Amino acid sequence: MATKKYRNKINKIRTFALALIFIGFVIMYGAIFFRENQLLVIIFMVLGLLAIIGSTVVYGFIGLLSTRAVQVVCPNCNRHTKVLGRVDICAHCNEPLTLDPALVGKEFDQSYNRKKNSQQES
Ligand SMILES: [Zn+2]
Repeated sequence: MATKKYRNKINKIRTFALALIFIGFVIMYGAIFFRENQLLVIIFMVLGLLAIIGSTVVYGFIGLLSTRAVQVVCPNCNRHTKVLGRVDICAHCNEPLTLDPALVGKEFDQSYNRKKNSQQES
């Protein structure tokens, strides 16, 4: 029933931040293979550092988003989850959730978050 295609936005961003840290360390580790070339080592180190700094920024962004997200109890699994925007996905069971009563019962669509794109039913 629940589509696995969509995921909770905050979880998605958090996964991205975690991936950035991982990529950063992999890039820095890659510098070892270019030991002979100091310039390449510096480039790799800087790139790795940038990825890790980027991840820190993304984590800060999550913190900011979390304060703006609305905490709701998921009707499907009865656990607390945070809804970001008009529609979001439960972090625990992938149940589509909405804050807009007009959208209740409708097919989950990411585009509902972009106000201008929300189609009106005729
Ligand atoms: Zn749930």
